[in-house]
Formats: sequence, C-alpha cells, structure tokens
Amino acid sequence: MPFDLAQLQATHKGAAQLLHRQHVNPKWMQALKLIGFDHEYVRAESQYLWDDKGNRYLDMIGGYAVCNVGRNHPVIRKALTDFLASGAPSMVQFDAPILAGLLARQLKGRVGRDLDRVFFTNSGTEGIETAIKFSRCATGRPTMLYETGAFHGLSTGALAMNGCESFRKGFEPHPDHFQSVRFNDLSSLECELAKGNVAGFVVEPIQGKGVNVHSYGFLAEASSLCHRYGALFIVDEVQTGIGRTGSFLAIDQEGAVEPDMVILSKGLSGGYVPVGAVMTRTSVWEKVFSRLDRAIVHSSTFHMGGLAMVAGLATLSVYEDERLAERATQTGALLRNGLEAMMPRFEFIRAIRQRGLMIGIEFAKPTSLTLRMAWRMIHALDDNLFTQAISIPLMQDHRILSQVAGHGIPVLKLTPPLTITPDDVTDFLSAFERTMIGLHRFPGPAWDALRRIAVNSIRSSTASPRANTESDAAQAAAEWLRADTQSNEHVEPHG
Ligand code: PMP
Repeated sequence: MPFDLAQLQATHKGAAQLLHRQHVNPKWMQALKLIGFDHEYVRAESQYLWDDKGNRYLDMIGGYAVCNVGRNHPVIRKALTDFLASGAPSMVQFDAPILAGLLARQLKGRVGRDLDRVFFTNSGTEGIETAIKFSRCATGRPTMLYETGAFHGLSTGALAMNGCESFRKGFEPHPDHFQSVRFNDLSSLECELAKGNVAGFVVEPIQGKGVNVHSYGFLAEASSLCHRYGALFIVDEVQTGIGRTGSFLAIDQEGAVEPDMVILSKGLSGGYVPVGAVMTRTSVWEKVFSRLDRAIVHSSTFHMGGLAMVAGLATLSVYEDERLAERATQTGALLRNGLEAMMPRFEFIRAIRQRGLMIGIEFAKPTSLTLRMAWRMIHALDDNLFTQAISIPLMQDHRILSQVAGHGIPVLKLTPPLTITPDDVTDFLSAFERTMIGLHRFPGPAWDALRRIAVNSIRSSTASPRANTESDAAQAAAEWLRADTQSNEHVEPHG
C-alpha cells in the first residue's frame, strides 16, 4: 500500500507521548508533564493552537520566535504546495538554483549595509558556525569573542560561545580560542580586542536568554571598536530578525552599526522549512572562496534547498504585505504599557524589557515579609521555579504558552507570532494579572501548586534544597515540602 499520511496519523491518534517516551526523549516528556505542557496539538492557525480535545491556546512562544508570520500562513502554504506540485528540481548541487538567487537579492534589498554575499544555512547554529569559520579565514586570527549570557546555538563551536553555564556543563572540553566579554561592557570588549588576536565578536542585539537589551549606542560603538582593532563585527539576528523587534533587523533601531556579517534564521522559515542566511561583506567572502578550487570550500548538502528558499521568499512577501514589523511595534507597545501599569501593584515584577514582540518580564525578591520568605524558599529549591509559578498557571488556567528564559535570573519571555491582535494582548494581560494576584497570596493555591511541582521535580531528579542558599530558607523549604512528600501526592498539573 502506498504511504498514506492521513491514515498513519489516524491509526496512531493519542500515541505521540508514548512514542516519544519509548523512542525519543523520555526526560523531556517527564518535564512537559510536570509543568502541564503535555498537550497534543492537532491544529494551528496564526497565533493559536488547538489540542485533540478542541481547546484553543494562545501561543506566546511562537516556536521560539520562528512563527513571525503566524502558523500555517495560507500564502506560504500555497507557495510551498505550488513548488511541490511544479515538479521543480531541488538540491541538484551542480547548478545555480534560481530561487536562492532571488532570495539572496531580496535579503540584500532589505538589509543593505554592503552585506553583498549570502550564504544559506539550515539553522541559526549553522549560521554561527559559518561566521566562526569565515571570521578566522578572513582575518587569519584565532579568537572569537562573545558576551556573558549569550545564546548562539548548541553545536560544538556555537556552544563554545554560549554564555549560559547550564548548557556548557557536561560537554567539556570546549574548543580553545573562544573568550567571553561582559554583556554591554565596551571596556571589557576593548580589553580583549586590544590583545590583537581577535577574529570576530559575535553579538545578539537583544539577548534571547533573559531579553537583555544593550544600552543605546553600545552596538554602534562595539562595531567601530572591532574595526579599530582589525576584528569583524558579527550580529546574530537569528531571533531578533525578520520584524521581531519592530524593524527588519533589530540593529535598524541602533544607529550607525556597521556589521561585517549578519546571521538570520528562525522567522525566515515562515514556520515551515528550516532556513538561515549569513550575509557578509564581499571582502570576507573573497577570503573564504578565494580560488576556483575553493569555490565550495564551505557548504552543506541541504543549503539552498528549494522548499527552504520558497519559504523564505514567501515569508518576506507576507512580512511586507501585512506590515508585520509595524504591527510588532504597536502590539508590543500595548503589551508593555499593560505590564508596566501592573508594576506598582505587584511587588514581584522588577522590570519589563521589550522591543516589538520580544518581551521579558523580570521578577525579583518582593519587599513584604511573608512574600520574601516564600521567594527565598522557592529559590532555595530551584532558580527557575518561581517563573514556572507564572508560566504553569498561564497554561493551566488560561491556555497561554509562555517561556521561562532567564538562566538564573527569573524572566518570563514572550515571542508570539507578530500577528497577535489587541484582543490577544488584552487576554494575555488579564491572565497574567490573575496569575500575579494568586502569587501575591502566600500561603495560597498558587504556592501549593508550586510545591507539588517542586516535590515531583525533587522525586525525579534526586535534587534537594540547594546547600548554597541561605540556610534558614533551605530549611524552611525542606519543611514546606515535607508535608507534600509525606502525603505522596502526584502532580497532575492540568488534570
Ligand atoms: N542564535 C540565537 C540568537 C538564537 O536564539 C538561536 C536559537 N534559539 C540560535 C542562534 C540557534 O539557532 P538554531 O536553533 O536554529 O540552530
């Protein structure tokens, strides 16, 4: 019998989690269950997902900032199905695919800045690996600089530039010649550049982990510092690009930034087909592809794949037609205003960081005594637990997907499709407000739910309240947990 996708899916309805537990990543399944994110989504449209029970969810994660145009956009879907139906060849390798030429020209038209050559990739990480190679080749120098708190991917080279210890741990030794500089600190950058061995400095205009925004002027000054010391300035716009922050690139709002490379991915895919692009100066390109026998010295099998190029071209067209950057600016401002208006009422909220629809809500130790104790207890258990106390009820009680993304600093992150509406913003704000009201009552049901998560997480990881936290908080946390441990309760977060 020929392959029948619909039949395959129909005969395996409801089996997804079991299949993943058996064949893919059981630990991830366990984690999803623990936080109540273990739904089976069967349909998606723009900023909404539907599960197998017909419930609708508002997606404020957007597939980690992939679905800028919204999921299953009809224009992109049609372009992809048209391409498939056309019988056009893809990945001939010994040819010049027209769609790659068209996409490169379109990207240049939007990015400008003398970034005249485009290397296509299959992911953001691959773009970073490309930038490492190109920087070393173009400068003849070894060292790559990155910022503390940075996230550039998880392959070997990209991981060596990852500023989050939790990702690096267990994968040592990391390759040599990667050096971190302090986030947003020009003197730290100059100190390393002055050593004269730096090939390039890779920087996210806004860091994805924590939504950390540089001071205005930092990126422009950093680019001129790099050039003064003969290093390349490389902007990782994998997450911030394609309208996410209210302009095509985030650096479009940052003054005279002069990148030697810009790396794009995520949003360019239209949420459909992996694609990325490294845009670089001709001078860099010519150092890499310097002779006929080096014409494909850097390449990969799937780069410039037909479907990926179609997804990129159709995405750029939708981006333009639907004025997505403008909409990101407008709805982003609505979200920010709404969140800022809540700050005086909720002592847990420390800061709102926002550019377009890239938003980080940072929490901090409250001022009142009871809440302070609750905060310290939670942090004695796990740094990320408090933010989960917000993302879990947002999902459980309001069917809203949001992300914990601070790495040590409690930050709730939002990167929804750029298509969210003012009504979605209102829904999110009221759900967030109700969640915060719940958390400002201690003891109370919001904290009880958190305790159950902590108990289950401790059961499954053999972790215990951390020894390095204030001892009274650790002791209180242990006592707080004990009641639940003895009752042998199980977390059923969305039961
Ligand atoms: N750079 C940045 C700024 C990112 O946010 C990410 C992904 N989160 C990457 C690089 C890696 O991209 P990918 O997951 O597509 O490999």
